[in-house]
Amino acid sequence: MSVTPINVNDDVLKATKTYRQQRRHVVALYLLALFVMTVLFGWLLSEQYKQEIEAAESRITARANVVNEWAKGVFAQSGQALFGLAELLALQGMPNSDNDQALKRSLENLTLYMPMVDEITVLSAEGRALASGRGNRKPDADISESAFFNAFKQAGQKELITPLYWSDIDQRYYLYHGRRLETSTGEFAGVAISSIVPEVFADALEQMSVYDGESIALVDPGLKFIARYPIPEEPFSIGSQIDSPETTEWLARGESTWSINFDSPIDGRKRLFRILRVGEYPMLAVVGIDLNELLSAWRQRALILTLVMAVIALLGAWGARHYLNRLALAHQLRQRIEEREQARAEAQIAAAAFQTHLGILITDPRGTILKVNETFSRITGYSEAEIVGNNPRMFSSGLQNAAFYRRLWKRVIKTGNWEGEIWNQRKSGELFPEWLTISAVYDVAGTLTHYVATMSDISERKAAEQEIHQLAFYDTLTGLANRRLFMDRIDTALKELQRHQRCGALLFIDIDNFKQINDTLGHYAGDQVLQRVARRMGQMLRDTDTLARLGSDEFAVLIEGVDSNHAQTNRLVERIAHKLLAALNEPIGLAEESIMVTGNIGIAIMASNEYGVDDYLQQVDMALFQAKSNGRHGVCFFDPSMQAALLAHVKLEADLIQAQASQQWQLYYQPQVDQHGRITGVEALLRWHHPERGMVSPGDFIPLLESNELINDVGEWVLEDACYQLARWAQHPRLSELTISVNISPLQFRDEQFLARVEGVFARTQAPLQQLKLEVTESLFVEARDDARDKMLALKARGVRFSLDDFGTGYSSLAYLAQLPLDQLKIDQSFVQQVLESQANAAIVESTIALAESLNLEVIAEGVETKAQQAWLLAHDCHASQGYLFGRPVTAEAIERLITGD
Ligand code: C2E
Ligand code: MG
Ligand code: MG
Repeated sequence: MSVTPINVNDDVLKATKTYRQQRRHVVALYLLALFVMTVLFGWLLSEQYKQEIEAAESRITARANVVNEWAKGVFAQSGQALFGLAELLALQGMPNSDNDQALKRSLENLTLYMPMVDEITVLSAEGRALASGRGNRKPDADISESAFFNAFKQAGQKELITPLYWSDIDQRYYLYHGRRLETSTGEFAGVAISSIVPEVFADALEQMSVYDGESIALVDPGLKFIARYPIPEEPFSIGSQIDSPETTEWLARGESTWSINFDSPIDGRKRLFRILRVGEYPMLAVVGIDLNELLSAWRQRALILTLVMAVIALLGAWGARHYLNRLALAHQLRQRIEEREQARAEAQIAAAAFQTHLGILITDPRGTILKVNETFSRITGYSEAEIVGNNPRMFSSGLQNAAFYRRLWKRVIKTGNWEGEIWNQRKSGELFPEWLTISAVYDVAGTLTHYVATMSDISERKAAEQEIHQLAFYDTLTGLANRRLFMDRIDTALKELQRHQRCGALLFIDIDNFKQINDTLGHYAGDQVLQRVARRMGQMLRDTDTLARLGSDEFAVLIEGVDSNHAQTNRLVERIAHKLLAALNEPIGLAEESIMVTGNIGIAIMASNEYGVDDYLQQVDMALFQAKSNGRHGVCFFDPSMQAALLAHVKLEADLIQAQASQQWQLYYQPQVDQHGRITGVEALLRWHHPERGMVSPGDFIPLLESNELINDVGEWVLEDACYQLARWAQHPRLSELTISVNISPLQFRDEQFLARVEGVFARTQAPLQQLKLEVTESLFVEARDDARDKMLALKARGVRFSLDDFGTGYSSLAYLAQLPLDQLKIDQSFVQQVLESQANAAIVESTIALAESLNLEVIAEGVETKAQQAWLLAHDCHASQGYLFGRPVTAEAIERLITGD
């Protein structure tokens, strides 16, 4: 089942992020709109405010100007009257006591026409009142010393108006308007003063139309109250001091107009004021407008606008909230869809996971099985219905004890899980190993809800492991331990040796001629022989012994803990070895034939661990070598002298290489005779003149030459030397009849270059080839028979003859023998020497002679040492002989001397 990977978590996160972003955008947009609206409305209101204020300012400025002009008019009127009076007095001269009545009358008239002037008085140059517009006037206090009077008299001031001035006589305030009087000659004559009644201003202001909240006031430069409309409440009356430090400051600055808003010092209402000086006169016109009233309309508008804005803001907020709600809803919906999607994916994954190749079992906290998957059913053989509701104990194999399960559950409870190998039982009753993992599942609150067990059947794996182990350590053919395991066991045995103080033994068993069995009967038969041999030997041994197969026909036994006594160990092991040999010697029956197997055993006793594995293996190898050299069916213990022999063997090998290099070879010739004892030929036999050891026998070094392939070169030398000999003898009439038999090793014969080399020798020596015989042995025909036959035929064509050496010792098939281009059979000396003692041998020789005759071959007996043997052979029609009886191998010169008699 395939599951599309769904990355739900990422999607949910992305969606949540987008949602939050949208929410932020909405809120930001709303706030921006709110801000813009507020700024707009604020600007609108402030503009309107400014306009209101500007309109009010221009209005009160105009009003102030009017008041200004009017006040100026009042003073101008008084000034006019005083001017006229001054002109008059200048013309008429100052009055005296006689004519002051006339002046008095005109002054009265004058005041009559100027209602705002209470009285006009003319003062003399000395400051005395000369006449007054009011008849009943009491003489004023002498003002001749006053600053006002002196301003005219001394400072020459033409006209001057005082601020509010308190008149003690009248007990009221006046504004005095004075004018200098001069004589016709321009001298100071006195002062005319008009007393202006301040109330006249109040009356005039009363006549002016005043708007709501508007106020018009006049004050003198000392901020004394002169007049105001609307009329202020008590305690303000003419002459009251007004407290306004700002205005005092402004006056000090000397400016002519000023606009300011502050709380009116008179009625405490906040007003916007326009203050200006009334011409050069000691009076200020103050026009104020009540800001509260002025701005009431604006405030109303502002209120409405604010309300409108609030409504818009609320509507906007409501809209935004609505939109946000919708967003949240959409987001929740999406989230829910995605959660569902995720849950679905998880369920899909869980389902897929449940269908794994692992067996899964789920139980409740009490261990009751709730669910298993298909794999579990398949492995155990039970259907799900058979399992669910049961306890996992139903699978118990009984191989693990209660303590094991107690430990298992203790661990699950402590750490939450356990894993390990366990044996369970299938429905069929079969026990099987499994790898089991148990996990405890807890919910968010930490309460145990389930146990989940996963298991895999590891029987196949175990079997494979077993097989690998088998392959690595056991021989596949016989099932015995292989070399590797055997070495291991020896190593362990050596370690144990010291502990138990008991000797052990190593035995190497070699089967004789196994190669030939293989070659002649085939590999299948060879394998069967090995298996039988292995089985038989195995039966002879105890379980604690290790029987191994080290090579094709090499077996080995390790026997541990034999005995603490060395001699006793020797005895016991020898007995075992002989038992093994006896078991080997039993004939083995194959399909068609029965085979006799023989073998040799080498033994090394392991008595101390001062030698290593390799040392003991070498010892037992030498013992086997010795056993083989001693003859068949032998048992041989290792003894230290063997080691010396082995070393000598190794040295000999090195010397051989040297021998070839420095031509330490020589050919000896042994005579071959006919029935009359006449020498008809010789056999060439190789001799090695060793610089230290003297003459070494070919039996000792030929196998060595064969083992390191020097045989080809040495063999060529032998053939060449013999051929040169033939060529030389051919020149000699009495020697030209002699044949020379040359031994050819099978290895030499099988070499690819053999024919070429031989041809080379023939070409170089020009030997008479019909005098040459090549001695081959039966083993040449065991392998590659046809190749051997072809080569023989090729040589035969050149006139060379062939003799079959050591006949009777091999396993040659007579039928095949008949097909070979042989000329002579050479009866092995072992038969010849026993011909008189052993009837069997005699029979073999007899039948060999008969065979040769029937195949039309010559026959020659070798190793003839006695006359009796010769007589027997002659009596049995073997006419040719070779042996010490006729002559030992000697030099060519010695042969020549023998024949020529020189
Ligand atoms: P072989 O070819 O069977 O040679 C005969 C051996 O028997 C010779 O031993 C010879 O000295 C010995 N002999 C002859 N008559 C008697 C007798 O009456 N009594 C006894 N006891 N022995 C007798 P040798 O020379 O030691 O040669 C041993 C073997 O070495 C030869 O056996 C042959 O197989 C091999 N050999 C010798 N020379 C050569 C050679 O040049 N090439 C090869 N390939 N093998 C050689
Ligand atoms: Mg020979
Ligand atoms: Mg021989």
